[in-house]
Amino acid sequence: MGARIQKTLHEIGNGVYAYTQLPGSWGWSNAGLITDGGETLLVDTLFDRKITQEMLDTMRRAVPSASRIDTVVNTHGNGDHCYGNVLVADAEIIGTRGCVQDLEEGPASRNQLLMRAARIVDSLGAGARFVGSVLNSVGIDRIALLSDAAALALPAFGDFDFSGMKPVPPTRIFDGELELRVGDKRVVLFELGPAHSKGDAVVYVPEDKTLFTGDLLFKDAHPIIWEGPVSNWIAALRRLIEMDVETVVPGHGVLTDKTGLREILHYLEVLTKETRRRFDAGMSIEDAIRDMALDEFRGWLDAERIYVNVHTLYRELEGDTEQPDILALFAGMARLQKSSA
Ligand SMILES: [Zn+2]
Repeated sequence: MGARIQKTLHEIGNGVYAYTQLPGSWGWSNAGLITDGGETLLVDTLFDRKITQEMLDTMRRAVPSASRIDTVVNTHGNGDHCYGNVLVADAEIIGTRGCVQDLEEGPASRNQLLMRAARIVDSLGAGARFVGSVLNSVGIDRIALLSDAAALALPAFGDFDFSGMKPVPPTRIFDGELELRVGDKRVVLFELGPAHSKGDAVVYVPEDKTLFTGDLLFKDAHPIIWEGPVSNWIAALRRLIEMDVETVVPGHGVLTDKTGLREILHYLEVLTKETRRRFDAGMSIEDAIRDMALDEFRGWLDAERIYVNVHTLYRELEGDTEQPDILALFAGMARLQKSSA
């Protein structure tokens, strides 16, 4: 599957670059490079060592000064934006408090373990389902969940290699807003999460009217609301739309402009309205998900994320502040994907 990914370094101009891995489904994230006067800032690393190295090599070929990365900004703490920090560990790495927390809770070693377990369970086939259901009857539900989740996780994450990846979290933490200089170029970081994750931040280059959004923006794909509140994400997008911006680099998918921001804003507004209607009508979460049409977004990648998004909204509406069970969410997405295939 990895071979079908189209990896490109785009020159936005004036020393600013974007790196995309298209079409940008699960784990295939974008990154950015900002250079001036021989100094360099990397926006996000990638999901594993191999693809991060490949990106760094491509950047170095195009921009000699990128042979040394001075600063890394992690837009948030999901692995596909910061596991690759291990290759630029000498740089100053900047992120929000929530970014560090997400990375601590979801290190590469956990993904490696889960993928290993998913492969084993998958190789057992129907047997795993049976073992799982037997164990369920005594209250051990993880194997059945893993067996379901494997159907999504193996094709989505099977190409990545998480072995031997030590966590390298940001060491410079910022809250709210942070202004940096790359050479003479002003770069401003805004913390806008929690929304997609616990600590979403964007990277703004005012003089080049360029914005790196991290996963506050997916282009032509369903966003995934791991954290919420959704109202916070909507407010963040409204704020970004007001900014002086021409080029927008999403966390996943093709480069865009404010059109991309408006599309996801509209998606979140429709999703919120449709979910609330079903919640108010007393529908169960599973019924609400099955009932949810979202026809106007047909054709967007990763539609199974509706499962997580409706769950997050239901938790918000119920005032439930417990952390969700990620494995159960993956299992639910896998079941939804299978039923709508
Ligand atoms: Zn991502």
